[in-house]
Amino acid sequence: QPPEQASSVSDYLEQVLATCGEDTSGHISEQLPAPGDTDPAQHALALVTADGTEYAAGDDQHYFTIQSISKPFDYAMALDDAGLERVHECVGTEPSGEAFNELSLEGGTGRPLNAMINAGALVAHQLVSPDKADPQGNGEPTTSHHPEVQARTARIVQGLSVFAGRDLNVDRELAEEEYAKDYRNLAIANMLKTHDILEVEPEEAVRGYTDQCCVLVTVRDLARMAATLANNGIHPETGERVVSEGAARRTLSVMATCGMYDGSGRWLARIGIPAKSGVSGGIIGVLPGQVGLASFAPRLDDEGNSVQGVEMFAQLCADLGLHLMASE
Ligand code: GLN
Repeated sequence: QPPEQASSVSDYLEQVLATCGEDTSGHISEQLPAPGDTDPAQHALALVTADGTEYAAGDDQHYFTIQSISKPFDYAMALDDAGLERVHECVGTEPSGEAFNELSLEGGTGRPLNAMINAGALVAHQLVSPDKADPQGNGEPTTSHHPEVQARTARIVQGLSVFAGRDLNVDRELAEEEYAKDYRNLAIANMLKTHDILEVEPEEAVRGYTDQCCVLVTVRDLARMAATLANNGIHPETGERVVSEGAARRTLSVMATCGMYDGSGRWLARIGIPAKSGVSGGIIGVLPGQVGLASFAPRLDDEGNSVQGVEMFAQLCADLGLHLMASE
């Protein structure tokens, strides 16, 4: 349990940021739509308890694109919209042992190994129901002109917003830029199409997925989203049920084994909680029933995880005793 007093928790978070901020190794991802626009010195940390108390430190008002951290939330929505069985037919739950943008498809079935890599995320995106979009809600219009893709993306942006407890938006300009150089995801989508896993055209699937990656968030948004997963799918501040308990649990399980790319095994051994990182430098971590955490620092290590973020989590989890495999 974090200390009781808000000021002392925030001071503690500031301290963690300052210590970890000394490490300026790593690089800003070239995969970002506008890597030159990223200030490498920005960093932030936030913590939201499962009963809704929120703490943050550093550049907690700074907006960045959610990127791969959207994947677990999108997967949870797919599980509720399409059902566990259907989702499992289309995307597995095994670690791939390969980079996030590899075409890791299971031999025989052709389904992506898990929903935390791009191939699986492209599929999970398709399994979210466009019929659940609120035409009056946020998330419109997206970069696609295909009505079904637009509605599905709107539903995903709205779902991410409910997870965060406020309206989030796609940065359409960044999404267009990212899409324009997204040859690799297009290749993956084309391959998925040959396995009959995508209903829409590969270009449209990638457009929808890229819009999903370009939703703008702050570290506080991410910590609230993580806390919603920690709280069995109920937002700890708004009290709204965002996803079912089963979807939250399945999502956390896949995050634990596949959330940190090729570094997932080492992360679980060292830090010990389900997590997900993204190329823009964010990381979320979830201690079920207790707390959602989020960090932001844009320089990445060779595996694509934020250098400072990994250290922030290592320090927090050690100091607060968060490792899931520890008995006390
Ligand atoms: N939009 C990025 C991509 O698909 C997201 C990847 C990531 O954050 N790891 O390549």
